[in-house]
Amino acid sequence: MPFFINVILPLPLEKHFTYSVSRDEAQFLRPGMRVAVPFGKSKIYTGIVAEVHQEDPVIYEAKPIEQILDKNPVVTEGQLKLWRWIASYYMCTEGEVLRAAIPSAFLLESETIVQLLKGAEVRDEDLTDDEFLLFEALQRQSSMKINEIVQLLDKKTVLPVINSLVEKKVVVVNQEIYEQYKPKVERYVKLHERFSEETAMHELLDELGRAPKQREVIFTLFGMSAKGKVKISELAKKSGASAAVIKALIEKGILTELKVETSRFNRDLEEVTGRVELNEHQRTALQEIHNAFKTQDVCLLHGITSSGKTEIYVELIEEAISKGKQVLYLLPEIALTAQLIARLQNYFGQKVLIYHSKYSVNERVEVYQNVLRNSENARIVIGVRSSIFLPFHDLGLIIVDEEHESTFKQYDPAPRYHARDVAVVLGKMQKAKVLLGSATPSLESYFNADHSKYTLVNLDRRFGNVLLPEIQIVDIKEKHRKKRMTGHFSDRLLEEIRETLDNNEQVILFQNRRGFSPILECNTCGHSPQCPNCDVSLTYHSHNNQLRCHYCGYHMAMQQKCMACGSDELSTKGFGTEQVETELKALFPNHKIGRMDQDTTRGKYGYEKIIEAFESGEVHILVGTQMVTKGLDFRNVRLVGIMNADTLLNFPDFRAHERSFQLMLQVAGRAGRTQKRGLVLIQTYNPHHQIVQQVSTNSYLEMYKEQLEDRRNYKYPPFYRLIRISLKGRDYSRVNEGADWLATSLKNTFRENVLGPEFPPVARIRNEYYKNILIKIPQRQSLSKTKDLLGRVLQSFKAIGAYRGVKTVINVDPY
Ligand code: ADP
Ligand code: ZN
Ligand code: ZN
Repeated sequence: MPFFINVILPLPLEKHFTYSVSRDEAQFLRPGMRVAVPFGKSKIYTGIVAEVHQEDPVIYEAKPIEQILDKNPVVTEGQLKLWRWIASYYMCTEGEVLRAAIPSAFLLESETIVQLLKGAEVRDEDLTDDEFLLFEALQRQSSMKINEIVQLLDKKTVLPVINSLVEKKVVVVNQEIYEQYKPKVERYVKLHERFSEETAMHELLDELGRAPKQREVIFTLFGMSAKGKVKISELAKKSGASAAVIKALIEKGILTELKVETSRFNRDLEEVTGRVELNEHQRTALQEIHNAFKTQDVCLLHGITSSGKTEIYVELIEEAISKGKQVLYLLPEIALTAQLIARLQNYFGQKVLIYHSKYSVNERVEVYQNVLRNSENARIVIGVRSSIFLPFHDLGLIIVDEEHESTFKQYDPAPRYHARDVAVVLGKMQKAKVLLGSATPSLESYFNADHSKYTLVNLDRRFGNVLLPEIQIVDIKEKHRKKRMTGHFSDRLLEEIRETLDNNEQVILFQNRRGFSPILECNTCGHSPQCPNCDVSLTYHSHNNQLRCHYCGYHMAMQQKCMACGSDELSTKGFGTEQVETELKALFPNHKIGRMDQDTTRGKYGYEKIIEAFESGEVHILVGTQMVTKGLDFRNVRLVGIMNADTLLNFPDFRAHERSFQLMLQVAGRAGRTQKRGLVLIQTYNPHHQIVQQVSTNSYLEMYKEQLEDRRNYKYPPFYRLIRISLKGRDYSRVNEGADWLATSLKNTFRENVLGPEFPPVARIRNEYYKNILIKIPQRQSLSKTKDLLGRVLQSFKAIGAYRGVKTVINVDPY
């Protein structure tokens, strides 16, 4: 009997590919191991074994594999199961999930580029002959492709050699140009817990009688901090002991070493040593979460900004790891939450592993392997959305912090998954509890809690009884009429800025657009310069006097005359962060102003620099886009100004109102985090808009009920599920005709629940035309049957020759 394996290849193939293996290989292979396999005419890919079996594929002849790359699976059964779920739910292939799920260094293929790792330390005797040969060759040429290596080593099976060099940290593969995110790590020690009893302490000192230097270190430590941790460098300095003496104490288990990543938040770190006591509200909430988890798997913690959700997370994490479980802590973005990470590292020391979107290929490999090995330093993984793909063995708890954030959804490429939703599924598969936390929950999650799918726990007091800021609305229509506006500032806002600055306090101003002024317009003929590749107007950037496209990066010098009619009467319409900054500089020439948006945070440590300057008080006013709304905890901000609520509210999307509410309330949460009450001013042309009103009265529930009603009336989530099909291609009429064909076919079955085809707001990007079709799926309609049908219609579509150049992109639960 012949033996076969099914392999998941990192390609958009509908099905697994079958290869033949020998009896021995079949006995050795297990699902989750990597194999190198031939594909197409001459390509070699690394794939993952999904199944070992004896069924001949019949329709094609199974080729033999090139070789086996692992002794043990690198992908767990649990991952394979999750991949299958994701591929089926989000309508993509398992190969696409595979690409997103494991570090690219694991997936050597014929196109892979191999380079020497900078600063690699190698001893010749650590390398095999083949490895050494390759190592030498790479010193002469900066990079090599796999087939060149095949020639060099004069053998076909070179992947193990490269894999081994990757593991030995000699070479890197597929090196992408990531900015290396290297937080500074400082080493601390503290006395081991067992000496916290006085008697134990005395015994220790007696015991160390024969080691006077070590004894001296302990004495010094005690003088510096009886229970907390101290920097090793400082301890060494104060006690006069050498590093070796301290190392000896660590090895004996008398001192515990802690590595703490520090950056801009040293100050906070010094403050928070050891655990805090929960206040009664936090205790109640924790108790309610415990109760909830007895009967339900998912709990939604609705806790207002600064209510102290993190401390509750800490308790739950502690409980989970004390039972020997792993914990996954999902965050929308790492760069903006260094403060929180510092806090968690402070509690859990080396048990915390961080998975960052800016990590290099090598760092990814390291994190992956640590989780796979279930090693001690991977008990708690803090990560962005892709960390749901890590090879967990025994998750006990998943926390999704800021669960309402849209960055949990991946837009492009496939898999277009939502990490919060996948987290809930992953939790089920691993029998882990899932806690969703937010000050402004998504409508979906709140709806689920409302309908007893999740348990709702409320925490509606700020920690230390700090008051929520006062929120006031400024009607700028009236201000314009009464000539009380200076540029984009109302007299009211200016007055409060002045007062705040006079009191040496700080201001945050939120404007939802970057750039100076989105568009340039001719006053004579109305023409505005367009991007030649995309259907958008170019945006004016004053700092380099350019017009730029935000979609493709096209740019040109600012125009003096209208390109259409030659008139020199040009004006700028709309306004962005840069213009706010410019106006502010003129209004407050003696104060330092910082700007935080995608343009100013692009460089290395861009965020950190700006945040640090604001933290230290060097910058007095911070102007920014949504970035300023995210979890930052500044102590000295009294005033938050929302420059214009209307740009948010008028966004053409069914979530615009929900999003506006969330954004405004989150940015408001940055004000007055200490005893003095903060103030938020919302400038708007529509002071009576229900969302603006609901923000000003902090009425989440009212917003929820009203939005829900709209969603029901207009057939949107959570009442209907959505699947969006985007067609794109270079040929305008083909895209158009294709979209019509597809929509017509779908309407045959789904009737009025098919919307479109429609051009999206930007219908051409990088010279490709876009057209969208939306399918609305009522609750009673089977999701899987809908997808099956859609799949079949798409199959017929792809078979039509005329539409070959038209690509289709499926987005399930588009955001
Ligand atoms: P949230 O995440 O809900 O916005 P945080 O967890 O950031 O709130 O808490 C707000 C502030 O209150 C933080 O500075 C935190 O250190 C402090 N805090 C919260 N709970 C406690 C506690 N039990 N004891 C001392 N400080 C606390
Ligand atoms: Zn003109
Ligand atoms: Zn463009």
